[in-house]
Amino acid sequence: MTLNLVQAAYIVAAVLFVLSLAGLSKHESAKEGNAFGVTGMALALAATVWGVLDRSAHPLTTFLLIAVAMAVGGAIGLWRARVVEMTQMPELVAMLHSFVGLAAVLVGINSFLTEGDGADAVHSVEVFLGVFIGAVTFTGSIVAFLKLSARIKSSPLMLPARHWLNLAALVVSAGLLVWFVQSHSIIPLLVMTVIALAFGWHLVASIGGGDMPVVVSMLNSYSGWAAAAAGFMLGSDLLIVTGALVGSSGAILSYIMCTAMNRSFFSVIAGGFGQEVSVGDDKDYGEHRETIAADVAELLRDASTVVITPGYGMAVAQAQYPVAELTSQLRKKGVNVRFGIHPVAGRLPGHMNVLLAEAKVPYDIVLEMDEINGDLSDTDVVLVIGANDTVNPSAAEDPGSPIAGMPVLEVWKARNVVVFKRSMATGYAGVQNPLFFKENSQMLFGDAKERVEDIIKAL
Ligand code: NDP
Repeated sequence: MTLNLVQAAYIVAAVLFVLSLAGLSKHESAKEGNAFGVTGMALALAATVWGVLDRSAHPLTTFLLIAVAMAVGGAIGLWRARVVEMTQMPELVAMLHSFVGLAAVLVGINSFLTEGDGADAVHSVEVFLGVFIGAVTFTGSIVAFLKLSARIKSSPLMLPARHWLNLAALVVSAGLLVWFVQSHSIIPLLVMTVIALAFGWHLVASIGGGDMPVVVSMLNSYSGWAAAAAGFMLGSDLLIVTGALVGSSGAILSYIMCTAMNRSFFSVIAGGFGQEVSVGDDKDYGEHRETIAADVAELLRDASTVVITPGYGMAVAQAQYPVAELTSQLRKKGVNVRFGIHPVAGRLPGHMNVLLAEAKVPYDIVLEMDEINGDLSDTDVVLVIGANDTVNPSAAEDPGSPIAGMPVLEVWKARNVVVFKRSMATGYAGVQNPLFFKENSQMLFGDAKERVEDIIKAL
């Protein structure tokens, strides 16, 4: 009876997770999507705990153990979520992925130790693959965390023969799998775990620069497969379904990010992109022009079409609220204001969309790069707020640039471009930006939030 109820709750939770993903795929329905996800997870947790207590010989002890673990985990989770800055979100996500990987490794080893010699070949393969995926996800996510939080350099690690090292790790692990299934010995399992930990570390360490967005979504996908593998080991259908949902949606997101960067998925995984990154090259781009907030206000007053292209600097400055205020003021004056969002702007997929939604910018004026690019040549003023790599013309014009071929917002085609940033420093990819030196570009230096507020005052 209990088992049937638990299974029924799992099915309802799985449906809620699918509805959640469907809701999260659009701005308008994201809140409901989130609510479906939270409800599904609460139901899944309650059903799991109930199922475990029902099977336990010592329900009270089991309950207390689960309660203590959940209280500790929940308290840490609540604390981290409350104190995290919006700009630290990508690191937090990377760190959470590493926990999923570690959990899969521990579940796998535990599953082997408790089943011992009684395990059949299928279960042994499940354990082996679960531990392998988990270990790769664990160390890969830790490297991503260190890179995104700038604790280690984001440029790719270029070991000689790195592709051969990766291949060797895979071939040796395949050999260890055969040994493990035949012998049921813990030795091949542990040796593979060490190899997989090193493989995960190397895989992400050798990806860098402009490929980091793909790494984040790829690790998201891996963490899903690690959870699905843990589901197989524990015989939990819900974990298999949930893991597969996360794994496949992460894979789809990685594909979308690769298309946005004009990169093949395989070449990203093989790594090494961005190795020629240079912080400011020697090329003479000419002089840049500076402007002040009052002059930008003047420019905006005379404009009939304005496009705002935000980037990571808007998140750092938390400038989305004054930007929303400026937008609403200009719209009241009859100016056609729209936003152009590059798929990898910021440090997280959808970063800019989240910030703009938070500041209540209407969704219908927030357009994707492909939707806005055609209109830019017919735009009076483009405000580039804290964006750099995503508006860099050398991606389109300089085949020798480390970001060559990446589609960008073609803001230089507009009649006037105003770039909000604090200095002439490069963006995430470390590449100089010729946009700043174009004749129709002006630099508005300073913190983006303060400068936008100055413009609002001047208006
Ligand atoms: P960039 O990182 O290229 O540039 C951001 C700019 O913001 C900097 O040049 C900086 O200039 C400026 N800035 C920083 N703080 C402020 C502030 N307080 N006020 C005003 N300006 C500020 O941003 P983009 O969004 O254009 O590009 C994103 C980059 O990040 C891409 O290279 C992408 O590949 C990478 N990336 C994206 C991820 C994703 O998932 N979206 C994940 C990981 C990496 P200054 O210091 O002079 O102020």
